[in-house]
Amino acid sequence: MRANQQQAAAAAEPTVSTNTDPAGGSGRDDSDSTVDPADKADSLAENARETAVEATVSTNASDPAGSCGGDDSDSTVGPADEGGCDSEPASAPALCEFADVETLELLSARLLNTMATRVVQGGLQPSDAMAEVRGLLSEKLSSAKKGPRGLAVLHARLEKLEARRSFGGRFVSNAADKVAGKARELEVRGEYRHGGRQRLALQLVQRYDTTREWHCGCDMEQLGSTERERHLTSCVFRPVGCSHAGCTALFSARYEAAHDGSCEFKVVRCALGCKESLPRRDMEAHVAGPCAMRPAECPFRALGCLAPGLVQGEVASHLEEARDAHLQLAMARLLQQDQELSELRQAMTEMRAAAETTAATSASAAASTIAGLQKKIAALEAGQAAAQAAAKKSAAQAKDTTAALATRLAKLERERG
Ligand SMILES: [Zn+2]
Ligand SMILES: [Zn+2]
Ligand SMILES: [Zn+2]
Ligand SMILES: [Zn+2]
Repeated sequence: MRANQQQAAAAAEPTVSTNTDPAGGSGRDDSDSTVDPADKADSLAENARETAVEATVSTNASDPAGSCGGDDSDSTVGPADEGGCDSEPASAPALCEFADVETLELLSARLLNTMATRVVQGGLQPSDAMAEVRGLLSEKLSSAKKGPRGLAVLHARLEKLEARRSFGGRFVSNAADKVAGKARELEVRGEYRHGGRQRLALQLVQRYDTTREWHCGCDMEQLGSTERERHLTSCVFRPVGCSHAGCTALFSARYEAAHDGSCEFKVVRCALGCKESLPRRDMEAHVAGPCAMRPAECPFRALGCLAPGLVQGEVASHLEEARDAHLQLAMARLLQQDQELSELRQAMTEMRAAAETTAATSASAAASTIAGLQKKIAALEAGQAAAQAAAKKSAAQAKDTTAALATRLAKLERERG
């Protein structure tokens, strides 16, 4: 939906009450601020017709004579200069001036970005940046068979322009932010405004789109006045506003069917086949919410009612019709739960008994362990007492022996003496 966003952005373009257009434009840019797609389509068509007079379209293959005798070297074409086509009456453009609406929209946004980039990073004055872009109208088209053709050539040239940096421009920080800011500043001024850029974009498309993929360019001079009128209302590139209420999309007539097939505002029948019709953009919420045909489950599904193919709108009548069946399902579940409950109770009783037995067993095992330990401690204590007694005894014996030796020694000394 890029086109829609673009057009919404275009529609939201601020109205500039004071006309600062140096070209003395009729102030029709102000009409871009309307959100009525029909008005906008008219305004675009008007732009296209007026540009027919201003534009020099001499490179168009289908128009060897050229629309007003201009040639590739004429670099002064543009709304500000009246293009040198003064002799052409405004009511009879030589070529059909309709071009693909989205292409023009994208290109005019690109032009603004290119000019803002040149001002910020190329150090140019805005008027010089505009002149530079206008210069592309007179650049020679390569006749080489290889390489990019058509609008790809134009985009490549714009890219080349954007890549040019002044010495200072190479060191601009936050360049993307500054370019965006400069673009916002420029787009409310004079020929940089939406309408002016659209006219320039049309001229560029006319020049570069040599295969007429994105614009009409058919020779209006070959047509009689009736045919001419008919062409203006049947040209596949003429701007058309979406007819569905609330939609502001604007596109070339050749995309009408494609847009209709995806327009979020088109009222369509419910995708699931209920009786409602509603805007496509509300469909997702409808089929996921209140739609009577939304697949539904019986509230008794958990009890076993599968009710295949049940939809939301039939749940009430199903509950009514299947009341007895639901009651039986509920009874069966109740009985089953009763059974399960008593089984659980039984199991619990058994478990409790088993737990008590286990507790008793472990208590007696503990008691015997304690007794065993106590016995061991007693044995150890007894051993200790015996050892103490033995130690005492040997100490006493040692004392006796020492005394006996002393007595004997004294006796021997006496005998010698
Ligand atoms: Zn046409
Ligand atoms: Zn629409
Ligand atoms: Zn529905
Ligand atoms: Zn049911």
